[in-house]
Amino acid sequence: MTSPSYIIVGSGVFGASTSLSLIRKYPSASIILIDRDAFYAPFRVAASWDWNKAVRADYRDILYTKLGLEAQLLWRTDPVWQPFYHQSGVMWISSTAFTEQVLKNFAELGVEVDIRAYSVEEARALYGGLFEDADYTGVKQVLVNRTSGWAEAKEALQNTIKTAVGLGVKYVTAEVTALEFEDSPGRKRCHGVKTAIGESIGADRVILCTGAFTPKLLVDSAPEWTDLHVGDRIIAAAVTEAIAPLTAEQYHILDTMPVAINDNPTEYGENLGCLPLPKINALKYWGQIIFRNTLEHHITRKPLSMPPLKSDYAQWDVPLALKDDVRRGPESMFGRKKVNQELEKFRICWEALTPSQDFIVSPHSACDGLYVATCGSFHGFKFLPVLGKYVVEMLCGELEPKLRERWAWDRELPPTKVNSKWPKRDLIALSE
Ligand SMILES: Cc1cc2nc3c(=O)[nH]c(=O)nc-3n(C[C@H](O)[C@H](O)[C@H](O)COP(=O)(O)OP(=O)(O)OC[C@H]3O[C@@H](n4cnc5c(N)ncnc54)[C@H](O)[C@@H]3O)c2cc1C
Repeated sequence: MTSPSYIIVGSGVFGASTSLSLIRKYPSASIILIDRDAFYAPFRVAASWDWNKAVRADYRDILYTKLGLEAQLLWRTDPVWQPFYHQSGVMWISSTAFTEQVLKNFAELGVEVDIRAYSVEEARALYGGLFEDADYTGVKQVLVNRTSGWAEAKEALQNTIKTAVGLGVKYVTAEVTALEFEDSPGRKRCHGVKTAIGESIGADRVILCTGAFTPKLLVDSAPEWTDLHVGDRIIAAAVTEAIAPLTAEQYHILDTMPVAINDNPTEYGENLGCLPLPKINALKYWGQIIFRNTLEHHITRKPLSMPPLKSDYAQWDVPLALKDDVRRGPESMFGRKKVNQELEKFRICWEALTPSQDFIVSPHSACDGLYVATCGSFHGFKFLPVLGKYVVEMLCGELEPKLRERWAWDRELPPTKVNSKWPKRDLIALSE
């Protein structure tokens, strides 16, 4: 039996991993991976394109603990990803019950991980006192998992795609402007995509791995067909990040420093964090404010959150309020020691977020031939080595019921007010 042909739109972690898993399973299949950016481009709009990302299995939700452990094994051992993984450890400063829940999950799974909860006094002394002056307001325990770490993100992503292309995946650099449909009896079928230069590319199956652009692409494709649109399932949201170069006297902290994540202060939004970046002797920070960009859709005239319309999502045009947001990081992590004084290379990183923070890995329920595999919800990168396996299982109808329900296109949506990552502010208001 011949394998169906595939178009994967979007070469972030979901698309890249899917292309590799598909070509490994079906070596002679026609698999086209399309992205607006070349995979070796120095800068990309993908959330997956980044200097580094935290790789951990420390989750409140045991489903992602298991998935994180599975991915970490490949980060440590598989030649596609191992060169880019650094097991520095991850330190969590949290005033919530996060520590207890994470320890409970590992105990329940019976896995051996080098993880420990420290009192605040003990934590102040760790890593040569590096975090002595961090903001520990309301914190009872600090969690350190020495079996977690971080990955060189853009390099790992690029190597995944390079490996897939080496095995036969065709990479096309093009902007997809719409999906194309045909009427099959009683139901529409997606049979390909149209690109910005007017070219139609066809396949039996189209998989959307389009991240923050997904809501807009579906409306653009069929403005009147509301069942195709994301509705309340997905919102395009963003966080700002920046690089902080270290002085030569500070380089030594990179030798032992873990990824550090701090929930304090909480009044501005989500957690702050920083990761070591030894390649350029710097740290990377992210901010607390998660925001949307609500624009009127040019055809439906209805409001829709989407990345800014410039081809690079205007990701380097960062308003002062968002720069200041990231600047809170050094103070929260290092207090008055201020390991980093100056931040540079501010970047807005756009992501697809769901109300439950679960991914979507599912057939689209409104039309045949169309599948959705995206919505990292600000935590998807670390699963790069295993995402494709699950997307292929979904395509084959073999996804285990628990995952199928969690990642379904149609599922019960929790109220967004219980989602700490749900954007409360708009880019336009933050730009004033
Ligand atoms: C600031 C920040 C920090 C994060 N840190 C971490 C972390 O430390 N650890 C972690 O595990 N996760 C982290 N995440 C989450 C993680 O980055 C995302 O969940 C993940 O990268 C999403 O992958 P994706 O493939 O769904 O989307 P993306 O990586 O955004 O990829 C989508 C791709 O689709 C392409 N595309 C979209 N529309 C079109 C079109 N019409 N035509 C052609 N191409 C198109 C885009 O160009 C893009 O390349 C972070 C996210 C952000 C924003």
